[in-house]
Amino acid sequence: MKAAQFEYMKPATLAQALQTLAGAGGQAKLMAGSQSLGPMLNLRLARPAQVLDVSRLNELRSVDLVQGRVRVGASVTHAEIEDGRFELLRGHPVQEMAARIAYRSVRNRGTVGGSLAHADPAADWVLAARALNAQVEICAFEQAPRLINMQDFMLAAYTTVLGEGEVITALHLPVLSEQARWGYYKFCRKTGEFAEASCAAYFEPVSATAQIVVGALDGAPVALEALASAVARSGVVAASDAAIDAAIRENIDQLDTLGRRMAAAAVTRCLKQAFGAHA
Ligand SMILES: Cc1cc2nc3c(=O)[nH]c(=O)nc-3n(C[C@H](O)[C@H](O)[C@H](O)COP(=O)(O)OP(=O)(O)OC[C@H]3O[C@@H](n4cnc5c(N)ncnc54)[C@H](O)[C@@H]3O)c2cc1C
Repeated sequence: MKAAQFEYMKPATLAQALQTLAGAGGQAKLMAGSQSLGPMLNLRLARPAQVLDVSRLNELRSVDLVQGRVRVGASVTHAEIEDGRFELLRGHPVQEMAARIAYRSVRNRGTVGGSLAHADPAADWVLAARALNAQVEICAFEQAPRLINMQDFMLAAYTTVLGEGEVITALHLPVLSEQARWGYYKFCRKTGEFAEASCAAYFEPVSATAQIVVGALDGAPVALEALASAVARSGVVAASDAAIDAAIRENIDQLDTLGRRMAAAAVTRCLKQAFGAHA
């Protein structure tokens, strides 16, 4: 099937994109890497009158340090992060995470902002950003940018708080201290496929952050808060098989037996990564 006819536009500036979007009455759609939008257009699940290509907008393509956090422009691609193109993200946990998204051809075009906006429950950015307590920067025409915690950004599968006329301009990530611990594990049926079970863990003594978050669920990722606090307090010994199983049963009610076991294995392996030999 081919996409229905639409007008393709390439705004020269973010301001122009925001203005066009605001004036389109809900008939325009943003396009970044087109890795998800392309298939949706072809299947006619999306039939916008206008498509605004924001993939090359300079304002969305930089990585900077802003108020002690790394501000990643929305149109930065997974491959650019994988390749260490931005110094601030070299060695950051998202570098390795980005390198394991799909296939290289998808990573060459797929973007941080497109991935967050699409909000696939199994998407890697959705999980990593949630575990890292990241914030999503959102702009609309003639309005001040707003920052929203990742925890509040994704409402359900393919559903976010983004309103009509709003654009993700950046993702704000923490800078990890030397003492920080990070783990990320996902089960994929084949290399390059979306995860079937996944977990990200982030422990940062400096900010007293403790996160164990399970992804690839029916909706947004789910945090195992009590388990994470126990691990922060008592070490990884607190994450026994029984404790992990109990935490999953308590917080996630949508999984069948296999799903629970896969999620539990993802948590175990993720913590092993975070705490190495101590796990
Ligand atoms: C074969 C295949 C395998 C994949 N496997 C994985 C995987 O394993 N893990 C994973 O995480 N992802 C995976 N993906 C998804 C991919 O990584 C992209 O991140 C994703 O397709 C969306 O990014 P994009 O830049 O292509 O966005 P697009 O497809 O251009 O846009 C997606 C949606 O986001 C909106 N949008 C785009 N930019 C913005 C913005 N700045 N502000 C607001 N809305 C915006 C668009 O309007 C559209 O609704 C896979 C994709 C494919 C095709």
